[in-house]
Amino acid sequence: MMHRRFTHLPGLVFAVLALLLLASACTVSQEVPFDSSPDVDTNEESSSGAATVVDDPDCNPDNARPSLEPTEPLPAPGAMPSGSRMDEIATRGSLRIGVAQDTLLFGFLNPKTGEIEGFDVEIGKLVAEAIFGTSDGTVELIPITSAQRIPGLIDDEFDIVVKTMTITCSRWGQIDFSSVYYESGQKLLVSEDSGITRIEDMTSDQVVCAADGTTSIQAIDNFPVQSVGVETWTDCLVLFQQGRTQGISTDDTILAGLAVQDPFAVVVGDLFSEEPYGIGSSKNYPEFTRFINAVLEQARQDGSWQELYDSWLVDTLGAQTPPAAEYR
Ligand code: GLU
Repeated sequence: MMHRRFTHLPGLVFAVLALLLLASACTVSQEVPFDSSPDVDTNEESSSGAATVVDDPDCNPDNARPSLEPTEPLPAPGAMPSGSRMDEIATRGSLRIGVAQDTLLFGFLNPKTGEIEGFDVEIGKLVAEAIFGTSDGTVELIPITSAQRIPGLIDDEFDIVVKTMTITCSRWGQIDFSSVYYESGQKLLVSEDSGITRIEDMTSDQVVCAADGTTSIQAIDNFPVQSVGVETWTDCLVLFQQGRTQGISTDDTILAGLAVQDPFAVVVGDLFSEEPYGIGSSKNYPEFTRFINAVLEQARQDGSWQELYDSWLVDTLGAQTPPAAEYR
């Protein structure tokens, strides 16, 4: 059904795709797509749901966004309160950030520079700048899959996660979140000649792909389609291009990046969920969550959020201003 050619793709996009395909497991097998991933359990939330996870009792199921009040005033770089998590990170000399490396626009490995780049990466660097005064040489970017986000934080494999991560009450039961730094929502990607204009058009013999450990794969279960769970969003793109899945469904942000890599793919329909993104951190250090919230307050007020948005996302996702913070 799908005969996809990439001869008309711009050189850079082709190079990105080729690298991502090489790095990807390509199938639903158990191969590990990233060499550099930390040794963490990948089954934090399965496609069948996270039955053992208890919601945070302080979280409102109708609005999981409110986070802890920001630190006031924000301590100056190089002057972290003694004994705080920020002090520990300052002493270590680097902030360890769990990021995506295959999500164009948010966290992706640029084959030209060899660096992981994107909006999420830059948001994470703001935290490093607030601790150290610079993000040069003070950031360790750790590429992870979606399902590795929560176990990695719990096992202290990284200090924060900035990976298109939706704030939910079930996740608040396991980790802390910052205030919202981006408002996304779920959509569907299909082949342009499929005739499908929204997920409700799909039938029970059709398959929709999503990454394991995500809100996306859980939401697909609300529709009468089959779902297939894989490790990374690039794995979904491979299945799609092989004709083994008729759709990919996740946040509009991630789909926008996938669509750039496939001239035969279109993103269709209205948003059918709310996916507010927060920076994840361990529940053991509430002072760090408050510090991160103060950093985000500053970024909303001094224009740095807007600058990052306008340089990474405005062309693809349209004009936006920073989402307002909500606190408990
Ligand atoms: N926003 C969704 C989630 O947090 C999907 C994002 C992702 O897989 O990176 O589960």
